[in-house]
Amino acid sequence: MDGPERSCIGCRRKRAQRELIRLRVEDGRVRLATPGASGRGAYLCPDPACLEAAGRRRAFGRAFRGPAAVDEEFVAAFAAVCDGRKAVR
Ligand SMILES: [Zn+2]
Repeated sequence: MDGPERSCIGCRRKRAQRELIRLRVEDGRVRLATPGASGRGAYLCPDPACLEAAGRRRAFGRAFRGPAAVDEEFVAAFAAVCDGRKAVR
């Protein structure tokens, strides 16, 4: 394993950071983190099931220590990233 490891807030599995999707919060809403973004981050596997699991477990509020709403815009953006990553999984 090379590079740092992070835990997915959905399934709690530890994976290489580069395999995970980094998230951040903007005005109380969860967004995809742009490369190099600073501030508190959380990570999800590129898998809609992990997004669902994180939502069920209220993991976003805990990870970001505050309001972190998952809206349709984020769900769509996340799904698009998952599709884009399928080729390398
Ligand atoms: Zn996961």
